[in-house]
Amino acid sequence: MTLSITEECISCWACEPVCPNGAIVVKKEVFRINNNLCTQCEGHEERPQCVEVCPVEGAIINMQGVAMNPPGSLTGIQPTAHPC
Ligand code: SF4
Ligand code: SF4
Repeated sequence: MTLSITEECISCWACEPVCPNGAIVVKKEVFRINNNLCTQCEGHEERPQCVEVCPVEGAIINMQGVAMNPPGSLTGIQPTAHPC
C-alpha cells in the first residue's frame, strides 16, 4: 500500500521534510513518492504525514486513485453538481 502525488501538486515542499522514510523524491520541482520506501507512515505516525501537511486537495492519492484529502476536506467547500 502506497500513495502517489498527482499533477495537482503545487511543489510547496511541505511534505518532503515530514516523511519519516525519505520516500518523497523531488526532481526539477516535480514531487513523487518512491513506492519502495513509502509505508504510509506505519510504525511512525497514525496518519500519513505528507497527507497531513499537504495544502492541496487531490494532490495525494491512494492506490485506488482516491484523493487522501478529498474535495472539500481542506477548504470546507463541498463540491456541487453542475447545474446543467
Ligand atoms: S505516507 Fe508517510 S511514508 Fe509515505 S510518502 Fe507520505 S510521509 Fe512518506
Ligand atoms: S505537500 Fe502536497 S502540494 Fe506540497 S509538494 Fe507535497 S504533494 Fe505537492
